[in-house]
Amino acid sequence: MLKQLFLKLEDYYEEMVSIRRFMHQHPELSFQEYNTSQFIKNYYEKLGIDVKDNVGGNGVVAKINGKKPGKTVALRADFDALPIQDEKEVPYKSLVPGVMHACGHDGHTATLLVLAKALNELKEELEGNYVFIHQHAEEYAPGGAISMIKDGCLDGVDVIFGTHLWASEPTGTIQYRTGPIMAAADRFEIDIQGKGGHGAQPHKTKDAIVTASQLVVNLQQIVSRKVNPVESAVVTVGSFVAENAFNVIADKAKLIGTVRTFNDDVRQFIEDEMERIIQGTCHLSDSTFTFLYERGYPAVVNHEKETEFLIGAAKEVPEVLTIEESELQMGGEDFAYYLKEIPGTFFFTGAKPQDADPGYPHHHPKFDINEDSMLIAAKTLGTAAIRIHQE
Ligand code: MN
Repeated sequence: MLKQLFLKLEDYYEEMVSIRRFMHQHPELSFQEYNTSQFIKNYYEKLGIDVKDNVGGNGVVAKINGKKPGKTVALRADFDALPIQDEKEVPYKSLVPGVMHACGHDGHTATLLVLAKALNELKEELEGNYVFIHQHAEEYAPGGAISMIKDGCLDGVDVIFGTHLWASEPTGTIQYRTGPIMAAADRFEIDIQGKGGHGAQPHKTKDAIVTASQLVVNLQQIVSRKVNPVESAVVTVGSFVAENAFNVIADKAKLIGTVRTFNDDVRQFIEDEMERIIQGTCHLSDSTFTFLYERGYPAVVNHEKETEFLIGAAKEVPEVLTIEESELQMGGEDFAYYLKEIPGTFFFTGAKPQDADPGYPHHHPKFDINEDSMLIAAKTLGTAAIRIHQE
């Protein structure tokens, strides 16, 4: 059966590439993926596969029931793009100004659609049920996963697998990890209210730029001096806004940034410590502040048994040359929510383009993948989905 599945996937590889390139040319931002959602729904309808759209928003869920009884396994692919201008010179470059599939979600979708098509043709021999979760809005919190789960996408599902095409790793590599693999990703905003005035009369002001600058530096001490060094954490100030004329002292300043952690206690500690440092820093300059801390996706925490199982599945795929443990990734992923509900694992499929050394990172204007990685992802997910019934 696996052999048959692999042959079908190889036969449909060209189609996989053309779907991916079509999506790459027509990217849509998170929560606005109407055409992409429609495209996915149409694809299943044409194949006569049971499909439901508008699941928790723009999400689409398809289902294939095998002839023989068995578990229900879900496979997930996300399909949103990013607000980035595509700067690649390729025939399949984005046609939408300022919007680009710069994280490979186009490839995830093509992989899952064609895998579903191949599995559907083997339906008569399949055990169990197969749920294909096409998730909208992975890139932008609160994300699509949580609303799709609320809308029932995991109802009756026993186990879930998902992969991310990973352009930093060579094609032919599968990276797994038990326990935490991707970080909790939070967002903060700090507004500092000083007292503006004339640039020539600082003694009559409370310079918000000076206070905010001290704060940026003080926040660096949380990770370097306060968090246990064996834990991993990031505090990044990504935006500092205090625009004024050259001869004006800033009345206010705004800092926006992100916090990444793997451990709930460390996450809470950093939030508390930030509040304390903001208070102290503003106290020194007699300024006031507001502090908003928004919790984003929790850490992606893989289940041990399913991760071990996935390693076994990857070993059955001839194109998988290397199977290795992933490093902890500081990026966030709302696959985390599925894993809080049911067992499963999230893994990386190496997708570094050929001749790209070192290549471009995810979310870069020149990001691209090696499309061969889609076939490897499809085979690995397909093997896991079939073999899980023999566990
Ligand atoms: Mn992504």
